[in-house]
Amino acid sequence: MLTGQMMDWPLLVSAILEHGAGTFGDRPITTRSVEGPVVSQTIARTAVRARRLANVLRVLGVERADRVATLAWNTHRHVELYYAISGAGAVCHTMNPRLHPSQFAYILNHAEDGVLFTDLTFLKLIAAVAPQLEHLRHVVVLTDPAHMPDPSELGELRAQVHCYEALLAAESDRYVWPDLDERAACALCYTSGTTGHPKGVLYSHRSTVLHAMGFSLPGAVPLAESDVILPVVPQFHVLAWGIPYAAVMNGAGMALPGPGLDGASLTALMNQTGTSVAAGVPTVWHGLMAHWQQTGERVPSLERIVIGGSAAPRAMLQGFEETYGIRAIHAWGMTETSPLGTVSTLKPSLAGVDAETRYAKLQKQGRPVFGVELRLAGGDGAALPHDGKAVGELMVRGPWIAAGYFKQPGSPLQDGWFPTGDVAHIDPDRYMAIVDRTKDLIKSGGEWISSIDVENLAMAHPQVAMAAVIGVPDDKWGERPVLYVVPSVERDADPDTLRAFLAENLARWQVPDRIVLVDALPLGATGKVKKSALREQWAAGHHATG
Ligand code: ADP
Repeated sequence: MLTGQMMDWPLLVSAILEHGAGTFGDRPITTRSVEGPVVSQTIARTAVRARRLANVLRVLGVERADRVATLAWNTHRHVELYYAISGAGAVCHTMNPRLHPSQFAYILNHAEDGVLFTDLTFLKLIAAVAPQLEHLRHVVVLTDPAHMPDPSELGELRAQVHCYEALLAAESDRYVWPDLDERAACALCYTSGTTGHPKGVLYSHRSTVLHAMGFSLPGAVPLAESDVILPVVPQFHVLAWGIPYAAVMNGAGMALPGPGLDGASLTALMNQTGTSVAAGVPTVWHGLMAHWQQTGERVPSLERIVIGGSAAPRAMLQGFEETYGIRAIHAWGMTETSPLGTVSTLKPSLAGVDAETRYAKLQKQGRPVFGVELRLAGGDGAALPHDGKAVGELMVRGPWIAAGYFKQPGSPLQDGWFPTGDVAHIDPDRYMAIVDRTKDLIKSGGEWISSIDVENLAMAHPQVAMAAVIGVPDDKWGERPVLYVVPSVERDADPDTLRAFLAENLARWQVPDRIVLVDALPLGATGKVKKSALREQWAAGHHATG
């Protein structure tokens, strides 16, 4: 081999921050703080505070590769933690506060976190599991001295309790980020573990930097210095999809909503900051659109919305584009893929197609960004064709795809590919469409029914605000689909009308025989509909169906 003669410059998270601070130093990071007021600081200021924080970590005894936990909303302080912890060579472990307390304690112990940074909101959660926390030495409350709680609010905690702003004020902002191996771990996220214990995905500096570059490419979620991006997706959910890295790398400003995730709070923050891009799961956009419909409020600066985490219904894509003139970008990914895998953008050759074809394409989960390879595996593991018809398990590989789980022996890979647990097809244009999660597919009379297809169709009806389909045991057919519907604001839903509407577009055996009207759907820790809870509710058998 003739080796190339270029530098081996390590791809490090600290390099993103220093580039951002030096090149785009005046760009804003604006937070609706947990304490209440909106606070704004520049990227340069964020870097100064992150350096102070790196000195704080040293004082707290944090060493290379140590896991440091965060339990926090999207705020400037949480962004500082991302950069300081990883930059110093430790591992930023973001904890999901919506988990069940037993899972919460399990994860903190499994990761062996010695230090935990927490927002004021979560003190009760920590107190509930305090005696079980085996490794915790320090808890730092993300606030200033004026808002510090009494340490007794943290229950029987053996760790020392500190105030974030007081610690920062006591340290110097002189700190030189260490030269790390780019393959060193920088962050840790546990999957929500709908089955079994949650599993830890351990990102490296290299994977994180490459993902941020891939994420912000023009064909994915293009980010420029003139943008302001609002990640509604929490920083505890797959690192806010990597937005805190991609934004600083490109000089995009950030608007961080803290705990204010309702339509009114988001609209206010967007208008205050001139937000041009926002990203989140469909449930959040549903809330935002309902708020706009009810109040007539608008966000004139908003140009693009990234919808991912679960399938974006066509009505939502079309609503954003046609009613509000906002480009909707449908994306697919998972914790194990950092998370960006595919993005649905329209090929130039499809520019003039009719609305039907356009939205049928955009509703798919899209084409892979450079750095992600896709493959479909049939039952025997053999590759299936990309003909838009053959359905198999989606397999992925690339430099930001997980090859293992933290402290778990063995590899999840099959022939070097990561099995996603998603069932999909890929068309000749390379657009991938998720049919279902393996565990949510419904098999009725020997035929598969895609719960996502039925949900999308149901949500296209004006009587339906949200829909979820589960398979329930059936003596004759094995399984049958049951449709749960949250009626839209203005209208009561009528099961017979809905069934007739579905029957126009589905094969007869795919139409749910039973439709359950509910006020709300149970949501899991990442804001997605929790089908396991619906299955339990169904098994408990207290539903009036139509
Ligand atoms: P969990 O949902 O278990 O918390 P993740 O956040 O990693 O874990 O979710 C990843 C899964 O979410 C994917 O495997 C896929 O099933 C689903 N998902 C993500 N984006 C989409 C999308 N755009 N359309 C349909 N499903 C999606």
